[in-house]
Amino acid sequence: MRATRAVPALICAMLLAVACDAPPDPANKDMAAPGGTVEPGRAPAPEPQMAEAPAEHDHEETGGRLEAHEHGRATLAAAVDGNELTFTFEAPLASLVGFEHAPETDAQTEALNTLKDVFVVPGSMVAVNPSAGCLPLMTTSGTHFGGGHGALEVEHVYTCESADRIDSIEFLLMDRYPQLESIDAIFLSGTRQSAGELRPGSPALKVR
Ligand SMILES: [Zn+2]
Repeated sequence: MRATRAVPALICAMLLAVACDAPPDPANKDMAAPGGTVEPGRAPAPEPQMAEAPAEHDHEETGGRLEAHEHGRATLAAAVDGNELTFTFEAPLASLVGFEHAPETDAQTEALNTLKDVFVVPGSMVAVNPSAGCLPLMTTSGTHFGGGHGALEVEHVYTCESADRIDSIEFLLMDRYPQLESIDAIFLSGTRQSAGELRPGSPALKVR
């Protein structure tokens, strides 16, 4: 378990990740984008329907960049930009499927595909208080291997009627993955920021 004094460094890392805004290789993510890629600042009006079933393609990568991680511990960043709310989630595969190498058996391939399918479903990973009027716009999920480790990387983009009314974000999949012991969560908007540790008994982050 990491000591609390490590949190500021983590937040810095997450701030950088949010500011970077460009995943290492977006072409390697599974996409579920009704209407195609979303460009920041030019988000179309939210659609009332859920996104279409996610397209699937496999992605394996070895030797690429992979941030150091601690098994049992994930990160969740929520960033508000205008009406757009972007969640970025990253977790060690060891804590989700029990291995961190490229799949070698049909069962391992299936486990990774199932994992990506679970996380790519719009609305599956996080919930926002309904009064903010946030609707899913685009989701991606993919896996990344490097340096003997493997990670799940997920992004969910929402458009919100009243982003200033966001007061709580909740991670919804903790019970499904009991080896995921905690999530370092951070929320950032133009005027507010908060951070906290999510756990199975307390999976929500208050952001005001
Ligand atoms: Zn690992």
